[in-house]
Amino acid sequence: MSVVAKPSTSENIKDIYNIGEMPPLGYVPAKMHAWLIRPERFGKPTEAFQKEVVNTPTIADDEVLVYVMASGINYNNVWAALGIPVNVIAARNKAGEPEPFHIGGSDASGIVYKVGKDVTNVKVGDEVVVHCANYSRDCPWVKSGGDPMFSPTFKIWGYETNYGSFAQFARVQAQQCMPRPKHMTWEESAAYTLVAATAWRMLHGWGANEVKKGDVVLIWGGAGGLGSMAIQIVKAAGATSVAVVSGQDKYEYCTKLGAEGCINRGEFEHWGLLPHWKDNAGYAKWLKGVRSFGAKIWDVLGEKRAPNIVFEHPGEATIPTSIFVCETGGMVVVCAGTTGYNATVDLRYLWMRQKRLQGSHFANTMQANEMNKLALRGQLDPCLSRIFTYDELPIAHQLMHENKHPHGNMAVLVGATKLGLGASGKPPVTLEHPVMPKDDVHTTPHPYPMSMPLPSIAEAESVTIADDGTRVRELMHRGIIACAPTDTVGQVAKTMIDKDIHAVVVMEGGKAVGVVSQTDMVLARQGRTADQARVMLARDIMTPGCATCDADMLLSEAVSLMTGRRMHRLVVTQNDKPVGVLSMTDVVRKIIAN
Ligand code: NAP
Repeated sequence: MSVVAKPSTSENIKDIYNIGEMPPLGYVPAKMHAWLIRPERFGKPTEAFQKEVVNTPTIADDEVLVYVMASGINYNNVWAALGIPVNVIAARNKAGEPEPFHIGGSDASGIVYKVGKDVTNVKVGDEVVVHCANYSRDCPWVKSGGDPMFSPTFKIWGYETNYGSFAQFARVQAQQCMPRPKHMTWEESAAYTLVAATAWRMLHGWGANEVKKGDVVLIWGGAGGLGSMAIQIVKAAGATSVAVVSGQDKYEYCTKLGAEGCINRGEFEHWGLLPHWKDNAGYAKWLKGVRSFGAKIWDVLGEKRAPNIVFEHPGEATIPTSIFVCETGGMVVVCAGTTGYNATVDLRYLWMRQKRLQGSHFANTMQANEMNKLALRGQLDPCLSRIFTYDELPIAHQLMHENKHPHGNMAVLVGATKLGLGASGKPPVTLEHPVMPKDDVHTTPHPYPMSMPLPSIAEAESVTIADDGTRVRELMHRGIIACAPTDTVGQVAKTMIDKDIHAVVVMEGGKAVGVVSQTDMVLARQGRTADQARVMLARDIMTPGCATCDADMLLSEAVSLMTGRRMHRLVVTQNDKPVGVLSMTDVVRKIIAN
C-alpha cells in the first residue's frame, strides 16, 4: 500500500494543521480539528455538532491512528447528536472514559500515521478503509475463537466508542484496518464498508443458508444502502437476485448493479401485521396479495422458484411476506426493523416448511475483510449517492434527521481537499456505474440506531414507573354475563344486543373457560353466510383460556395485560371466582375522560 496524497514537508512541523493540510507522514500533531457533540448541546444535528480543537488521542498497543481523508455518514450519529435513546457520552463516562464529548463517524478512508507496538497488519503510510467492529482482544470468548460479534465487549466504533472518523485523526483497533481499493476516490472508499459488511454477514454468515451459486435471493430496498451492496454480493456468489423497490424509476439502477429484475412494491397493498388467522376473509385477501407478489418473483425469474434467502430490513411491514415467499428450508435474514419491530409470523409456514428467521448485525473482522476483497477486485460499486464538504457534516446529519437525504451511501471529505482525489490506477474490472433517479429521498421513519444497547436481564438500573395506584376493582363492571359452550352464536349475539355488552364469558362447571367478544363474532361471520355463522357454537368461536385479572391488581398492570395480548377486556376474579369485567372502554373513561 502506498501513499497517494502529498504530506507536508518535515520543515512544516506544527502542533496543529488546518483541515486539508497534511502533516508530514508519521508525524502526529498534539492537537486536531474535529466535529464534536457535547451533552449540553444535544439536539438537532446542526446545533449538536460544533467544530472544535482537541488533543489528538493516544493509542493502545493494538491500536492505530488513521489520518482521515474521508468519512462515511450513517444514521447512528444522528442519534448520538440527539442524545437519545442513549447518551453515548454518559455511557462511556460511566465505564471510566473521561472525555465529556463524542467524536462520531463509523466509516473512513485514510492513511496510517501511527501504530501500537503489537500491530503487525498495517504500517505507517498504508492507505486503509476502516470497518466499525470494535472489541477487546482480551475477551475470553474472543480468545477462545468465538465470533467477536457475540462478545460482550463488542462496540460500534464511532458511535459507542469515541474518536470516530469526524476528525483529522481517528483511533481504531488494528484489526479494523483493511486495504483501500486503489481505483476508488477517498470519498468512494469511505462510503461502503458499514453497509457492505453488514450485507456480507447477512448473506454469507449463516452456515447452511449461506448464499451459493444458483440460489435466488429476494432483496428489499434494492436501491438503498444495504440493498445495493446485497445485489452485488449475490451476483459475485453466482446467485440471482430479485430486487424490491418503490417505483419503476429504480429498476435500471438495480439491474445495472446485477439484479435479475425488480418488483414494484407500490403495486401491492398486503403490507403490515398479518390478519387474524381466524379472519377467513381478511386472510384470504392477504393470501391473494402475497401470492400475486410471489408470482412477480416467478415473472422476474422466468420459472416458478422461491427465494432461498430473503434479505430483510423493513421489518414489520414486510416480514409476513418474506416468510411466506421464502423457499422451504430457506432463510429470512433481518438486520433492522425500519417500519416497526412487532413483526408477525404465521408459524405454520415457519415450522411446516422449516424456514429460518435469522437476526444479523454488522460483521466480524473476517467477514468485513472477505467483503473488502470484492471491493479490491473492483466487483463492488460503493453506490455513493451524495458527498459533502467537511463544513457540511452537520447538514448531512440534519438532512438524515429530517428524512430528506437520498437513499444509498453518503460521504464527507475530511483530509481530502476536493472531490475525486485518491484514485490511482484502473479498477480490475469495469462496472457500469449506476445512477439513482433524481429527487429520490426517504419516506420511511428513522431507523433504530446501530447497536443501541437493549435492556437485558443483567440491567442493573431500576426502571421508574409512573402509576397513580388505581386498582381494577375501582373501575370494573360488576357481574358476569355468561353463556354455555354449547350455546349457538345466534343465541350469544342476542344476549350481546339485549344487554348492550361487548363480550360474553363462556362458563363451564362454574369456571370461565373462554370469552366470546364482538371481534370473535365478526370473525365467525368473515367468509361465511349469516346462517352458517349463527348455527356455530360458542365454544367454536370463543377465545379460549379467558384472560383474567384479580380485582386488587393495579390498573396499569391490567392495561399491560390487555395491550400485550391485543385484548379489549379481562374477566375480573376474586378468590378465583369471576366477579366482573374490565374493558378498555372503562380504562379510557378513567384515564382520558376522567
Ligand atoms: P436506505 O438507504 O434508506 O434503504 C432502505 C430501503 O428500504 C429504501 O431504499 C427503500 O426502498 C426500502 N423501504 C423503505 N420503506 C419500505 C417499506 N415500507 N417496505 C419495503 N421497503 C421499504 O437504508 P439502508 O442503509 O439500506 O439501511 C436499511 C436499514 O438497515 C436501516 O434501518 C439501517 O439502520 C439498518 N442497518 C442495520 C445495520 C446492522 O448492522 N444491524 C447495518 C446497516 C444498516 P424503496 O422505497 O425503493 O422500496
